[in-house]
This record gives sequence, structure tokens and C-alpha cells, in this order.
Amino acid sequence: MAKINTSEVRKINKKSILRYLLMNEDVTKPQIAADLKLSIPTVGLIVDELVQQGLVENAGVQASSGGRRAAIYRVIKDSVHACGIEISQSHQIYVIVNICGEIVASERISKQFSDDREYIQDVERYREDFVRRSGVDPQTIVGAGISVQGLINADQTSFSSHMLDNQRKIMIYPLTDKFPYIYLNDGTASCMSECYANQEERDFVYLMLSRTVGGAIVENGDIWHGVDSFAGEFGHMCIHPGDDKICYCGGKGHAWCYLSSDRLEEVCDGPYWNFFTKLEAGDSECRKFFDRFLDDLALLVYNVRMMHNSDVVLGGYLGTHLKPYLPDLEKRLQKLDHLYMESKTKVLIGQYDLEAAGVGAARYFIEQFIVSLS
Ligand SMILES: [Zn+2]
Repeated sequence: MAKINTSEVRKINKKSILRYLLMNEDVTKPQIAADLKLSIPTVGLIVDELVQQGLVENAGVQASSGGRRAAIYRVIKDSVHACGIEISQSHQIYVIVNICGEIVASERISKQFSDDREYIQDVERYREDFVRRSGVDPQTIVGAGISVQGLINADQTSFSSHMLDNQRKIMIYPLTDKFPYIYLNDGTASCMSECYANQEERDFVYLMLSRTVGGAIVENGDIWHGVDSFAGEFGHMCIHPGDDKICYCGGKGHAWCYLSSDRLEEVCDGPYWNFFTKLEAGDSECRKFFDRFLDDLALLVYNVRMMHNSDVVLGGYLGTHLKPYLPDLEKRLQKLDHLYMESKTKVLIGQYDLEAAGVGAARYFIEQFIVSLS
């Protein structure tokens, strides 16, 4: 195994201490040292450096318990920010998050997507005005992540999508922003909101259910993109071979055909939240549809679990609506468990609702900032 040198060790320790401070408010150097199993002098030096860099501040002293009172430290939440922009077929969502990943500003506007330079220039103008309205110092913004409903090619010049009915390949027009930006797939971006929320290196599968169906596979806290970057495209997994329903990709029987929020909107003839209102009011058509929907979802979750044997987090605006129906979903999963594996894994609900993709796209840059910290 390759040896790592002292300066690399110091960088690793610095990131761990900053992550610890992001998760724990008002802590002392001895507390950090004990919890992270580091020496007090090491913690002392690094915390002082973080203070000098303007990321951490001294917030007074601990209440007296007899001996010398230790100084308390906390992260300066408005020291670093990032922007996230979610672009979809019919709307845009703009968010700003601080270094802790908390949303400090958010706006949603209706705007029909179009594949031209003017559209992206409008996005930039709106984003600038949005930052101004938010009162956030633009100097603290480290980047802007842009989430789109589609598969982005490796050199960020185009993406395949169904956002335009007559076109699969959509060109990416570069932004003129002064700070870095990146385009991200909406499933990946939504998953990032979940990945970075706990600062834990856990394994799970994120299953995004909204107008699109997608997701991501997370191992040790990192998203596994796969050789061609389409790992986690669960919407294109075939769950009904032989069925004639056609996915927007051209394939038949794909999960998207049954689990997109579009299907719910077709049944209730209105926005997807009306579906749940009608369902709860006892509408028989909605009940019949939802019965099939939960069976299809159970089948997809079962397949995903067989592949990755980890918790499955349901996200996206439809996924986060499913909390009351989790016990029913679990029962259907048990019926599929012919091997009687009695999995210890759980189906969970994501922490972010409508803003998940925007928050994740913004957190991409917060994470980049933490990783590149020297
Ligand atoms: Zn498909």
C-alpha cells in the first residue's frame, strides 16, 4: 500500500475536522480531538487555521465546570455558498445553499424549456438577479450546478433528453459566469442532496421518482457513475417485458412508463398532488391505478435491492409523497421475497422535496470546496 506523507495526513485531518464542525455546532477542541481520535495539538493547529481562513469562529467559552474553561468553535455559515439551478421542461428552480448545505434562498418559476442560446442567457440573468435579491455576497459563491432532465455527455457539450418532444440530443450552451459551473443529470443531482446531507460514508441506492425516473448508486458516500456514466438510470430498467407501453427512449416496458408522475396526472387529470387528494377521498379509479403503481414500484425496488443489497431512498417530488404508503410497499416487497432473505435494508424517504435537484447541484460545489481545501 502506498504511504501517505505528513502534508496529506494534515489535509485529511483538516477535512475531517471541518466536516465534524459542519455537523456539530458549538464544540471545543478537546471534544473534537476525542470524537475524531486525534491529538489536541493537531486539532488546535487545524482549528486555528480554519479560523484564519474565515470558515470557523470562536463563539465564546464553555460554561464553567471547575477547571479552565475551553473555547467554543463553530462554522461561519455564510462564509461559503453555492448556487443550484434545476431546469425542467416547464419550470426552473433556483437555490442558494450555505457551507452547511442549508437552503438560504429559493425561487421557482414557470418557464417552458427551449434549446437555444437565449434560454440559457435568461437563466444566467435570472440567476444574477436571484443572488442580488437573496442578499448573499456573490464573492462567497464557489460555483453553480445546473440540473437537467437528461444524460449529459462526458465533455458537457450536449445531453440526451425528452425535454423537447421532437429531439433527443440537446446542445449545451456555455454560461458566461465568472464562477465555475457544471451540468448534472437530475437523478445524480438529487442524490447528491442526500449523499452530502449526513457527511457519512454510507451505501445506498437513490431512486428518484418525479416526471422522470432515475437515481444513483452510492458507495462509501460517493456516487458510482459507471463506465459510461449512466449507472442508476433505473427509469430505463425493463419491468414488464412484452408490454407495449413505450418509454421516451423508445424501449418498451421500462419503469418510467409506469412510475413517472405523468401517469398519476393522466389518471387524475390535474397536478400529481391532486391524485393523492382523490386517492385519500376514496376515488376508485385512483385506488385501482395506485394498487398497480405500488406493485410496479415494489418490483423495481426488489430488482434494485437484488443488485445492490442496500437501503433504497425514495426521492424526487413523487418519491417524497410516498411516506404514508411505505408499510404497504414493504408488504408488497415481502411478497416478492421468494428467497425469504428478510433483508435488513430499509426503504426510506429522501430529506428534500421539490428542491432536491437544485440543492444537490449546489452541494456539488460545496463538496468540491471542502475537498480542495488546503
Ligand atoms: Zn427507457
